[in-house]
Amino acid sequence: MSYISKQLISWHKNYGRHNLPWQQTRDPYAIWVSEIMLQQTQVTTVIKYYQKFMDNFPTVSALAEADEEKVMKLWAGLGYYARARNLYKSATIVSNEYKGVLPSSMENLIALPGIGRSTAGAICAFSFGQLKPILDGNVKRVLMRFYGIKDRLGNSKIEKNLWELAESNLPKFNIEIYTQSLMDLGSTICKRKNAECCVCPLTTNCQSNLNNWVDTIPLPKIKKIIPTKEIFTLIVENKKNILFFKKPPKGIWGGLWAFPEFDQLPSTQDWLSKNLQAKKYTVENKGEFTAKFTHFKLRVFYQHILLPSTILLPCPKELYWIPKIEINDGAMPAPIKKLINKITFA
Ligand code: SF4
Repeated sequence: MSYISKQLISWHKNYGRHNLPWQQTRDPYAIWVSEIMLQQTQVTTVIKYYQKFMDNFPTVSALAEADEEKVMKLWAGLGYYARARNLYKSATIVSNEYKGVLPSSMENLIALPGIGRSTAGAICAFSFGQLKPILDGNVKRVLMRFYGIKDRLGNSKIEKNLWELAESNLPKFNIEIYTQSLMDLGSTICKRKNAECCVCPLTTNCQSNLNNWVDTIPLPKIKKIIPTKEIFTLIVENKKNILFFKKPPKGIWGGLWAFPEFDQLPSTQDWLSKNLQAKKYTVENKGEFTAKFTHFKLRVFYQHILLPSTILLPCPKELYWIPKIEINDGAMPAPIKKLINKITFA
């Protein structure tokens, strides 16, 4: 057994995490859902989403048969919505092609939308006890620091090297404990900032600790200038309802509810008259907010419009009047929810 696996397996008994909801099962579906939710997201945030999701969709078939709108609603606020859409797509494939049972081979798992090599490795290790490595961002950091690899993440040569190291450290037994301990070490001890080397089980042989390189490995990413996109949006309400736009499945906030949006602000009067045959209105408020994404910032300028009627004016098919009492249940991204909470509706 390698030094890393030996140290981590014995460390985990007393210091690792044992009570996470997805640790109480070997059900590949439950492990899969948790692994997808945990991508780019902290454990503490995931727990409540995971429990609610599993209560609503306890099996692959339940997810495959669900309405996509409901899936997106339960994911709303967790971000990176392509994960939810891929999970849903993959559930349909598993339901149709594998009779609702997640396949147990890396090859078949990786062929499903949204499952990469590391996620497939975690599913194989946790559900089927297979000796497969994982290599998420935390694990990459641990290995780079332990071996003293002074480089940046994202370099394909380094990635290849890290996969080889991850593979070479796999223990013959206790793969589940080892995999969990590696995840736990990366997120609770060998953190990006303020690594706690003094309580780390790898401290004696870790090159970064021995050479004082902890704060410099991995090397920081080369900073790219993040572009800012601008859109304009109209928040239209009448006495009882608010007008929403269901975003197309691909693109920002795909499949979620937002407000009618434009690359350039149209004439409000023309737009209301053309789309809702509304002639009378008042502009209640104007403002802007910025949402951050991985590769760009989105600056959203909004106008809040009040129509003085309770009648539901007919609207184009991609727009929906939603009763105000129901908007909190909608599948909306977090920035739109925040905006709704900020606005005073009539
Ligand atoms: S000794 Fe420090 S740098 Fe090395 S693996 Fe442990 S926490 Fe990370």
